[in-house]
Amino acid sequence: MRKVLIIGGGTAGLSAALSLAERGVPSVIVEKKAFGGMAEDLACKGKIECVRCDVCLAHNKVAEMKRSPLIERIVPAEVQDMLGELDFFLATVTSSSGKKQQVTAGAVILSVGLEPFDPHLDKRLNYGSVTGVITAFEAEKRLLQEGQLALAGENKTARSIGFVQCVGSRDIRLGVDYCSRACCKYSLKLAQLLKKLDPEIEISYYFMDWRPCDAQDDLYVWAKSSSKVELVRSRPSEIVLGDDGRTEVRFTSPIGENVESRHHDLIILSQGIRPALDSGPVCDMLGLERDEFGFVKSLESNPCVTNKSGVFVAGCARAPMDLVDASNDGAIAAGKAYAFLGGRR
Ligand SMILES: Cc1cc2nc3c(=O)[nH]c(=O)nc-3n(C[C@H](O)[C@H](O)[C@H](O)COP(=O)(O)OP(=O)(O)OC[C@H]3O[C@@H](n4cnc5c(N)ncnc54)[C@H](O)[C@@H]3O)c2cc1C
Ligand code: SF4
Ligand code: SF4
Repeated sequence: MRKVLIIGGGTAGLSAALSLAERGVPSVIVEKKAFGGMAEDLACKGKIECVRCDVCLAHNKVAEMKRSPLIERIVPAEVQDMLGELDFFLATVTSSSGKKQQVTAGAVILSVGLEPFDPHLDKRLNYGSVTGVITAFEAEKRLLQEGQLALAGENKTARSIGFVQCVGSRDIRLGVDYCSRACCKYSLKLAQLLKKLDPEIEISYYFMDWRPCDAQDDLYVWAKSSSKVELVRSRPSEIVLGDDGRTEVRFTSPIGENVESRHHDLIILSQGIRPALDSGPVCDMLGLERDEFGFVKSLESNPCVTNKSGVFVAGCARAPMDLVDASNDGAIAAGKAYAFLGGRR
């Protein structure tokens, strides 16, 4: 069977390649930076006990991919040009050193992933100007590199942490009404790790609604069974520098009554998922339609199938989702590509 070209080697792309390999179908993955995608910068939150954040799912796929003789890898590289349609595609791939090579494929899977929401775009958060306001992505990276969450510029750990949920999601003022579907999960897992590292730490959650992530974990149950965890059902309105030099979250009730506030050492912004910033050119090159947010359109009744015959889309390139869903999505796209190339489902 002809080869499948996979653009983007994050969880969705790797899962697609592995799923094709299980069916004996060869693939070539073109990855711009490093295999594993976003998960490469995320921390295992199981330093004391596994909290099922699923980050290792991506790491395991990278290892599995390297062992497969059916998966060719071109990294760091990008597809510069694409000719052909239906079941014959000719891609020109350019590596970061400038070396060009041509790849032929019978089908294409686009899995170029996501961009975390940039909180500078929401001025009310004062991200970058008030010390002690960090993104979840920064928290993940600090945990990954330092094993703890030190306060910026100080050699001590935060004693009181506020999680602000739905940052850059479900906010019509920002023109984004969708739920990012991963941030309830990762913030809870981060909070669970922080609590395990230091049971005395105080954690407050500023949230509108809770999106359940797995059968075992529920924010309400966890909060009830943990000391010093406060759930604040609210709409955060602003983050400022408090008069005690700490960060101050101002918030209203979900229906917008009475502004209240609380002070914390550290605020973690649970930023949502946006399409990868530079996914536009590759989508245009492939002739793919995108929705008003920039995600590649696929049929609701037939996920991963795009407007272009022979081109499929998987993972956060088509909708916000967590690692488990991205992995499943890659397998679905692989199944569709396999059927398209004449294999049976
Ligand atoms: C702050 C944060 C924390 C998160 N924590 C968790 C968590 O703990 N658990 C969880 O389940 N989910 C978590 N998520 C969600 C998780 O990151 C996504 O579900 C997952 O990364 C989606 O996988 P993907 O393969 O679709 O995209 P990505 O992981 O983004 O992979 C896309 C890949 O494509 C590559 N690429 C992009 N453009 C091109 C191009 N033009 N050519 C070639 N390659 C390209 C990229 O370099 C990247 O390697 C988190 C998200 C955020 C924002
Ligand atoms: S699921 Fe998450 S917490 Fe558990 S081992 Fe894997 S990376 Fe660590
Ligand atoms: S997953 Fe949770 S925090 Fe993220 S947008 Fe949805 S409700 Fe908000």
